[in-house]
Amino acid sequence: MLPNVIILLGGPASGKGTQAKVLAKRIGYTYFGTGDLMRAEVEKGTDLGKTMADLMNRGKLVPDKLTIPIVINRLEELRSTNIVLDGFPRNLDQAEILQDVFPNENFLVLNIEVSGDELLKRMSSRRICDKCGNIITVKNDEKVCEKCGGNLIQRDDDKPEVLTKRIQSYEEQTKPIIAYYREKGLVRDIDGQPPIEEVTKEIFNYTDF
Ligand SMILES: [Zn+2]
Repeated sequence: MLPNVIILLGGPASGKGTQAKVLAKRIGYTYFGTGDLMRAEVEKGTDLGKTMADLMNRGKLVPDKLTIPIVINRLEELRSTNIVLDGFPRNLDQAEILQDVFPNENFLVLNIEVSGDELLKRMSSRRICDKCGNIITVKNDEKVCEKCGGNLIQRDDDKPEVLTKRIQSYEEQTKPIIAYYREKGLVRDIDGQPPIEEVTKEIFNYTDF
């Protein structure tokens, strides 16, 4: 049976967001990204949205206690839909929340593996648009967003001094999730080192779609 909940896991800058979107589009699943969900909340202009906007504008990550209620809400709306998850679950607690919301679904976990050195290289050339939230990898230190003309800034989280820390925290929090799903026989490992298009091909080979 085809899995109806597909979870993309991978370190920061592993390319999992891009792969999740491409995969969802190709197989007709609903893409569920925590980043998009947060931006939607900001656009609604709720108090929570304003708090989040403030954090994001300062290049900070939005903490779990703010995101989880929105995530659960949206997951419940999607209960009978086929989905591709990007950015959730991020730790074991969240994996258990997901299990509670979707107790009877078939899961597939695609674990995109990229070496620590390569992640560091990619993250240090990553910029986010301060207007549309577009995330791009710069080659020549470009300053302007091609999509909307906004300023490309480096998030505090992508600055060299915190990169190693982020990779460590990914290892600490997400590795246990991989182990948790691996034990259930749900994990497919994907080599995330090659260029995006090649990784996409590998994913399609593995998922048989
Ligand atoms: Zn932009």
